[in-house]
Amino acid sequence: MKRIYLDYAATTPTHPEVVKAMLPYFTDAFGNPSSLYSYGQEAKGTIEEARDKVAALIGAGSDEIVFTSGGTEADNFAIKGVAYANESKGNHIITSSIEHHAVIESCKFLERRGFKVTYLPVDKYGLVDPNEVKKAMTNKTILISVMHANNEMGTIEPIAEIGSIAKEAGIYFHTDAVQTVGHIPVDVNELGVDLLAMSAHKLYGPKGVGALYIGKGTKLIPFMHGGEQERRRRASTENVAGIVGFAKTVEIAQQEMNQEAKQLTYLRDQLIKGLLERIDHIRLNGHPQKRLPNNVNLSVEYVEGESMVLNLDLEGICASTGSACSSSSLEPSHVLLAMGLPHEQAHGSIRFTLGKWTTEEEIERVLDVLPGIVTKLRAMSPLSEN
Ligand code: PLP
Repeated sequence: MKRIYLDYAATTPTHPEVVKAMLPYFTDAFGNPSSLYSYGQEAKGTIEEARDKVAALIGAGSDEIVFTSGGTEADNFAIKGVAYANESKGNHIITSSIEHHAVIESCKFLERRGFKVTYLPVDKYGLVDPNEVKKAMTNKTILISVMHANNEMGTIEPIAEIGSIAKEAGIYFHTDAVQTVGHIPVDVNELGVDLLAMSAHKLYGPKGVGALYIGKGTKLIPFMHGGEQERRRRASTENVAGIVGFAKTVEIAQQEMNQEAKQLTYLRDQLIKGLLERIDHIRLNGHPQKRLPNNVNLSVEYVEGESMVLNLDLEGICASTGSACSSSSLEPSHVLLAMGLPHEQAHGSIRFTLGKWTTEEEIERVLDVLPGIVTKLRAMSPLSEN
């Protein structure tokens, strides 16, 4: 059976050109960038070229990019790094209630160590209200962290508005842009952010590599201690092959992103429209327009998300009930609950995320298969309309 992969927000297949670009760095060009001889210096040069490319994609300066082991590390570095470097100014952080666990758990960690955190509510579409950010600010606020787009239901947040509020108040502003970099335009100057987290495996690059943008003058302490790599901001021998792969994905994104977003928006809307027409008691989660071009998240009443995912798997279709990290837990998604969905609807959610290689035939196959699965599950379900 041919598999249909519709979980691109969990991870993407590595682009064949990216694999090709990475391969020499495991064999011929394996040097340690800290070594003085030419093998090492060549690797160092390659990393600097990669840094230029990643910086250019988001309108940053090359010296404002620090490579990390992924999005989780970039979020941890930003939040804990700013918190501990600015403790003398204050101990208050503002974030939203729909952040990825990498942000939420970093904030909870800091709360256990005496910091105060405000978790902002969102509206029914999952949008953070910039006025709520303003209202939550105190003279102790040192950091605001709101994600660029949500990984579960795809809503794109008003980052530029929050950015200007943060700038006016002189408060550092971090955004988790793991789901947007390489998919929609991201420019750190237009967004007005001081810190921005990225991850290569969400844009057809390898797993285990990402970056944190740290705007000039941003005070934060290093997260990893050891050698002097990354201008003393992140110790550990650089993941040269991964960084090269990351830069290659960025190059491809620059050429293909706009056309790809158009194509994905078309397919996304076909899938949403088709499922809303074919299944009753179903609703779209997230904002209808302010949403990622590849995200479809629906709540189907009287069925469990996990049952739909497992039945789709039997048909060779990969989808998810929420973020990859929480899809093995039976707790309903904190994101959908924050948007005001009752537990039953949050439990009945299913997410399809489309990508570069998604075809119209694949969308049609989902439209053919899912309504039957829902009918079958509802027939067996103790939950019902009555
Ligand atoms: N932030 C968001 C919004 C994500 O979707 C993810 C991945 O699921 C991460 C952070 C973590 O990134 P990584 O897997 O590179 O650690």
